[in-house]
Amino acid sequence: MNPVSQPKTQMDDLLYESRTFEPSEIFKTHANIKDPAIYEQANKDRLKFWDHCARRLEWYKPWDRVLQWDKPFAKWFVGGKLNASYNCLDRHIKARLGKRVALFWEGENGDSKTLTYQDIYEQVNKMSAAFKSLGVKKGDRVAIYLPMIPEAVFAMLACSRIGAVHTVVFGGFSAEALRDRINDAQAKLLITADGGYRRGSMVALKITADTALEETPTIKNVMVVQRTGQGVAMKSGRDHWWHDLIKTAPAYCPPEPMDAEDLLFILYTSGTTGKPKGIVHTTGGYLTAVNTTTYWVFDLKPNDIFWCTADVGWVTGHSYIVYGPMSNGATQVMYEGAPDFPERNRFWKIIEKYKVTILYTAPTAIRAFMKWGTQWPQSCNLSSLRLLGTVGEPINPQAWVWYYENIGHSRCPIVDTWWQTETGSIMITSLPGITTMKPGSATKPLPGIEAEILNEEGEIIKEGGGFLSITSPWPSMLRGIWDDPQRYSQTYWNKWQGQNYFAGDGTKRDKDGYFWFLGRVDDIMLVAGHNISTAEVESALVDHPMVAESAVVGVTDEIKGQAIVAFVILKDGNKPSPQAEEALKNHVAQKIGSLAKPKQIIFTADVPKTRSGKIMRRLLRDIAEGRALGDVTTLADAGVIASLKQKYDEV
Ligand code: ATP
Ligand code: MG
Repeated sequence: MNPVSQPKTQMDDLLYESRTFEPSEIFKTHANIKDPAIYEQANKDRLKFWDHCARRLEWYKPWDRVLQWDKPFAKWFVGGKLNASYNCLDRHIKARLGKRVALFWEGENGDSKTLTYQDIYEQVNKMSAAFKSLGVKKGDRVAIYLPMIPEAVFAMLACSRIGAVHTVVFGGFSAEALRDRINDAQAKLLITADGGYRRGSMVALKITADTALEETPTIKNVMVVQRTGQGVAMKSGRDHWWHDLIKTAPAYCPPEPMDAEDLLFILYTSGTTGKPKGIVHTTGGYLTAVNTTTYWVFDLKPNDIFWCTADVGWVTGHSYIVYGPMSNGATQVMYEGAPDFPERNRFWKIIEKYKVTILYTAPTAIRAFMKWGTQWPQSCNLSSLRLLGTVGEPINPQAWVWYYENIGHSRCPIVDTWWQTETGSIMITSLPGITTMKPGSATKPLPGIEAEILNEEGEIIKEGGGFLSITSPWPSMLRGIWDDPQRYSQTYWNKWQGQNYFAGDGTKRDKDGYFWFLGRVDDIMLVAGHNISTAEVESALVDHPMVAESAVVGVTDEIKGQAIVAFVILKDGNKPSPQAEEALKNHVAQKIGSLAKPKQIIFTADVPKTRSGKIMRRLLRDIAEGRALGDVTTLADAGVIASLKQKYDEV
């Protein structure tokens, strides 16, 4: 099966995705990367190119060899030694940038803190020393289960400073999810907080952690940050207050010189397609790629105020809050809470308050903003913004244009960044000062990245649809799945007999060489012998003025093999009706063709999402097929599934 999309009709000219957008002259003139020759330079000698990028970092010892490639196992910068925490902190202090603001932290309840690189350096040194005093050694795993507070960043950098391997577990996860990740990684230390704030209420993190800790034999100590002040039980001998340990900790803890291939972290994937995988990343190649891509893709300059809205519990937070921006000495905003607390303009208020220049967020958030209406961003001054980014899912062209016009005021380029926990850093996106943008397309692979679209046989498809593959090793590639080498080979290297990396995403390439993501390969629908992409049908639905969001799945159909069922969320102020259902079905037929016309439309207030905000189509399929639900541990809201199931059964 090749996920080839249907040919478009003559309606094409009216589609958003057929429009193109150019960066402004001002943006182009000042961009970090202005010269398209960078692509050729990288092509000419990829290893030399990455060798050059790695020199952006400070190394204790240079590498002997750029790449050692024993497919599917890569080693980058072999023999080199460096420390990630040193590159994010000490290096800036040495360059006399200690007074530069690293973080403007905004609590959901209105608390705020301004932290310089010097401030964070002091905290991290003490924290590293405290970890050591609790017996944490190089190579030990440390689990971090915190809200979006500065201590989450300190804890990660304190681990990398002493060579401990962090595994951050998103603070919204349940006790079971935390327990499973701790046990899988065999973590020795857990760092958590008394609680956090979410939508105005207190989240009882320590209580949840205590439940998990009943069944985590490897954990010897627990460090607890006081965030909310809510009463918590402290188990003597095991639990320690962060602020107590800090009081007595030495002011300096030397960074551990790490081998380029020493582990930096383990991070579990979002669980959109199944049971999460513990992705392993190492130090030198990862840091090189996140440092370089931050500079290229976000066009980061010393006077920028960068805001990545992801949680540090996801790879986006690891790469584009902590290691990428901080190794570049960036000034960032970090926000603890929800985008709609106390009102639906909280993001825009934050941008206005801190004069954010670069905003990096997710399509799921953008679609929520569209649903809420333009009055919210209009109520704030967004004129500081100069660049926008998205990550996480395909962005519907309609949402892209909404973001471009209503948030960027048609002035800011958008970088639609395709990458994965596995890739560690951004792989396919535009260079904002060079690339012509097409709404809904992540554009092209970055310099130094070789990606192709392959068919079932592993042959390259120059124009048309197929499976995305990264065809040569890249510095920040995963080094495996923790404790499960077999799953590593099976998941990523089985499709083409070990020859090529299988990303799991359906993609097409247009005549200009632009990549368009069509959805997960597992989600692609087969209707009357034709492959139809979830992304295209969903975008056609979102293109209708009534629709805010949709999720489509293929269900077994006696005649067509599969028929399309669409779950649709209407924008505020619209009501479900048989007429609306007809109108939407016809809209899809008109935009894509009658083959893609949904058999059934189910209006709903919500669709199931992972805790990172991605639509879980596999659960919708389970409902539509009347099957038992698959892995639900990463589901954000179990209530959504229960009410959908009830609704579906009624229909
Ligand atoms: P799991 O692997 O456990 O199912 P996941 O794939 O959702 O979870 P992540 O690593 O967080 O875990 O997500 C990577 C995936 O997100 C990509 O494979 C792709 O499907 C999707 N994705 C990310 N960015 C984009 C983008 N810009 N355009 C299209 N899809 C994207
Ligand atoms: Mg994945």
